[in-house]
Amino acid sequence: MQNGTRPERPGLLERLDAGPVICAEGYLFEFERRGYLQAGAFVPEIVLAHPDLVAQLHREFVHAGSDIVEAFTYYAHREKMRLIGKEDVLEEINRQALAIAKDVAYESGALLAGNICNTNIFTADDHSRHAVRAIFEEQVGWAVDAGADLVIGETFSWGEEALIALDVIKASGKPAVITLAIHQEPTTREGWTPEEACRRLEAAGADVVGLNCIRGPKTLLPLLKSIRDRVSVHVAALPVPYRTHDAQPSFQSLLDPAYPDPPNGRPFPTALDPFTCNRYEIADFTREAYDLGIRYLGVCCGAGPHHIRAMAEALGRTPPASRYSADMSKHAFLGTDPSLKQENRVYARKL
Ligand SMILES: [Zn+2]
Repeated sequence: MQNGTRPERPGLLERLDAGPVICAEGYLFEFERRGYLQAGAFVPEIVLAHPDLVAQLHREFVHAGSDIVEAFTYYAHREKMRLIGKEDVLEEINRQALAIAKDVAYESGALLAGNICNTNIFTADDHSRHAVRAIFEEQVGWAVDAGADLVIGETFSWGEEALIALDVIKASGKPAVITLAIHQEPTTREGWTPEEACRRLEAAGADVVGLNCIRGPKTLLPLLKSIRDRVSVHVAALPVPYRTHDAQPSFQSLLDPAYPDPPNGRPFPTALDPFTCNRYEIADFTREAYDLGIRYLGVCCGAGPHHIRAMAEALGRTPPASRYSADMSKHAFLGTDPSLKQENRVYARKL
């Protein structure tokens, strides 16, 4: 890895003031799908086992339009590493993930983001408050050592856990992006509405507040509107690319009538395929969120590079991957190009 000196370029807040910023997420799901990460514990052991593949996925997302390379430290925190009996490589996995992301950020001009997330041990008592803070402090410390341009704290179901994450990030001096995970009930676990939680985060100094994961475009948008109306800072929107709806608003609650008895008792997390949003649905979401005034956009668990490219193009951009965006005019049967065989176009009705 090079990790050389990077040229001067705008930071997160300058970019947001100039226009939208895209952050691709969803590394756990993508590597699970590819066969390099186990559903269940969902720990990113691939960072140590196959660093080249992690770098490659970062590159694919940047190629598709992501402005941020988010170090793959999601669930690489002390509690998760303890759970799988690998606490001894906690620091190594974090430093390695940051180094991989830094390489791609430096070569591409994207921003490097450190990442912390829900610990799953927060219970709103003093013991868990201290334990959670310690987890965040060590991870944010490694992100600072790596020269992160910002730190993302994400997928918090507890508003208070998000506030602790924010406090730790602010103490590091890095810009803080904090996104909450809102499940079926449209509140945090302590009962705050998303907009109330985001107002508290804004008051505590968050640079960007919003929602990520859990909900698909259709059930995330109404919550985003309430947040956008009530905070002054930039708002983040990173849905999962699944067709959630009012009766099943989270991807964990989705049920598949065509396959009613999947191994886990529900499609989440390994049988969600038939619910996947196509790229055009992500483009529609992007335009709707942008029209609400939301400038920090991305896609979470389930995202593929084609979703990120659709998001970028919906914002009027042409990332390198746009070179290969669909052009059906030369399709042998469905195309319109005059050089194509007329007989094939007639036969197209039978395809
Ligand atoms: Zn997610």
